[in-house]
Amino acid sequence: MEYKHFSHQHNLNIYKVQEGQQCRCHGCQSLCDDTIYACWTCNFFLHDHCGNATRYVKHPAHPLHPLILIPSPTYCSGSFVCNACGGVGNGFSYCCALCEIDLHINCTFLPPKICHKAHQHELVVSFGSQDQKGAPEFCKICTKEVNSKNWSYRCLEPECDFRVHTYCGTSEVKPGLYQGDDPDSEIPETSKDSCQTNGDQSQPAPPTPSDPAAELLDLQLRMQMAQQLSQMMASFNLSQFV
Ligand SMILES: [Zn+2]
Ligand SMILES: [Zn+2]
Ligand SMILES: [Zn+2]
Ligand SMILES: [Zn+2]
Ligand SMILES: [Zn+2]
Ligand SMILES: [Zn+2]
Repeated sequence: MEYKHFSHQHNLNIYKVQEGQQCRCHGCQSLCDDTIYACWTCNFFLHDHCGNATRYVKHPAHPLHPLILIPSPTYCSGSFVCNACGGVGNGFSYCCALCEIDLHINCTFLPPKICHKAHQHELVVSFGSQDQKGAPEFCKICTKEVNSKNWSYRCLEPECDFRVHTYCGTSEVKPGLYQGDDPDSEIPETSKDSCQTNGDQSQPAPPTPSDPAAELLDLQLRMQMAQQLSQMMASFNLSQFV
């Protein structure tokens, strides 16, 4: 059985990685240990979930625009800096070209909440802020600074002040989150209970599909995607002449 993935020119085959074999996923750049898509001509590998990642997501970290899956960075440097973890990447990314948002595929699908043995309460993802100029905050696991622009997991209990880097808190990925095709049904419950303890952060309910406002939103979404795609095409074309 052969598969075609938009990021690779050859067909891919399903393969089961053997023990001791080192296959690095082109999408998330970590090692594969289970079923993968492989092109042996190029030593090109994709995790099952990286190969099946949806072409765009509506992510709560950037509700304004859909994030589009890009097979390799369009920047001149050939790499991007992830807005979530602050690390560099050169595999797949989810991007908003309009706002210069770039996320590792694994950071995109971090679970909204985690439990960690280092803390007794549930930790909730926090998407960081652009203009937070307070005292520096430190990760309770690795003790290094948490950049306020990047994402972190934190305890919402007011007395706790417990915060960790996303990569210190979990390496778990939830590939099914934020499926693009049915934007309303897959938006994760960003914890109703935490909204109550945090009265000032009330979130508007997502519109229902029958709502004309929802259809308008959907239309806007499609237009923005078209706009982003054309920007991307333009940057691809340019880069061929560099
Ligand atoms: Zn992968
Ligand atoms: Zn190939
Ligand atoms: Zn990242
Ligand atoms: Zn945007
Ligand atoms: Zn706590
Ligand atoms: Zn840390």
